[in-house]
Amino acid sequence: MSEVIYEGLIATHKKAPVQAQITISKDTGLITNVIENKEEFKENDNIIKINSDCLIFPGMYDIHIHAREDETKGQNHKETYQTAGDAAINGGVIGIAAMPNTPNPLTTSEQLKWHQNRTKEIKHPATFLNYVGVGPTTKPLVENVPYKAFTGPSVGDLFFKSEKELRNTLQHYKGLPISFHVEDFDVLAANENENNHSTRRPVECVEVALKYVLQIIEDYDLNAKLCHWSTGLESFNMIKKHREIMAKKNLGYNTTIEVSPLHLTFDSNMLEKNPEFWPYVQMNPAIQNKEHRHALIDALKEGFIDFIATDHAPHTISEKFKNFNGSEEEFYKLLKENPEETKLTCCENGMSGATWLDTYVNICGMLMTKHNFSSMDIARVTAYNPGKFVNSFLDSSYGKGFGKIEVGYQGSLTIMNIEKEELIVRENLKTKPGYSPLEGLNFKGRVEKVIVKGEDVTIQKDYSITDSNSVLFKLRIKDGINVPF
Ligand SMILES: [Zn+2]
Repeated sequence: MSEVIYEGLIATHKKAPVQAQITISKDTGLITNVIENKEEFKENDNIIKINSDCLIFPGMYDIHIHAREDETKGQNHKETYQTAGDAAINGGVIGIAAMPNTPNPLTTSEQLKWHQNRTKEIKHPATFLNYVGVGPTTKPLVENVPYKAFTGPSVGDLFFKSEKELRNTLQHYKGLPISFHVEDFDVLAANENENNHSTRRPVECVEVALKYVLQIIEDYDLNAKLCHWSTGLESFNMIKKHREIMAKKNLGYNTTIEVSPLHLTFDSNMLEKNPEFWPYVQMNPAIQNKEHRHALIDALKEGFIDFIATDHAPHTISEKFKNFNGSEEEFYKLLKENPEETKLTCCENGMSGATWLDTYVNICGMLMTKHNFSSMDIARVTAYNPGKFVNSFLDSSYGKGFGKIEVGYQGSLTIMNIEKEELIVRENLKTKPGYSPLEGLNFKGRVEKVIVKGEDVTIQKDYSITDSNSVLFKLRIKDGINVPF
């Protein structure tokens, strides 16, 4: 039997980091032993010792991404399972769950089979899970899968225009796991001529939809998850009350919440000052003001929000800069020549969504250094809670699944160096569109190693790069327009 032993500081959701030896079987890919008592440590050539400036987390799992690939190949220019998987491993993420709004939205068992075969076929070290879409005419599948329902027009045809339409469909999904994109169609329509993305998709847009979404979850006992949460304050009060109602039902589950790195790092106050960053940070739902952003960070730390889920949305640079003839260089040139008018154009409606997989661990580092998250907080929101979500959909070959460093769990680890810094540069990204909203920013905390089923699958980056020709890098470093968070 071949096995490998990793020795170092393990960081789990339960306790402060502790020196341990983790044995992983390369045959099954599962953890076979965890020793925390130093006197029992083994000594042999198979032991891989991890530096003391690193933390060994259970493999981090991103439960909300867009991989774009389907049988039509219609958006393979944006991303494929291969490149999304590469970006994940590059960012310290060992598994991803892909949303169903591909060119031909995934809503049937036949399509699900296609996606499952495709992700098996590429033999990628990352684990893939697929959400199945819920639309105005869909019914639940026989397979045990997570579902996704869109209440706002983000995704072509797969969305509901009214509460009635949503209710008619969801009455058939009683007790099933459904993730919600929560934005109200009428509020969006009423604000479509506002002057930037935050005012076109205001807080009210989330709150109005949330009111009826929570009521539907209660009425049909849905095992619900709220995606990419963007607002604090009143929406938190609504969710608190709702969770109390759901808890009384003793269903064994209660509504959970995701937050995306974009809503943790950028807010509309920053964009008021520097509207030139809009093309890079436009996303649905929109970022809101600083107060909301800080409420999200606090709620993630306190455990009210359950997951960091990126909503990695790989659109090409030319799509992101469609208001500038598809050219980022033209945008930059115009910004120099005519800054006021160019900034106004940046506020116009562009393409929503940004790439985040490559920088997942950097965001964890930012939360630890700037917002005092403990390693337990990080393990909880990146591995333990995502593991609980994903494990219920896995077959027995995954053992006990993801989220813990314990016997029987996946031998997949995200090893993070918490002392070393990383300057985000385009040259080190693996996502197909090849840009990140974080380019030119420096992060304390970076990927040291990524282990999947005992194998080292780390993607090497060139940390010596200190210069880049990317427009975003130029804006932040050479022009000194830094957006702090
Ligand atoms: Zn999404």
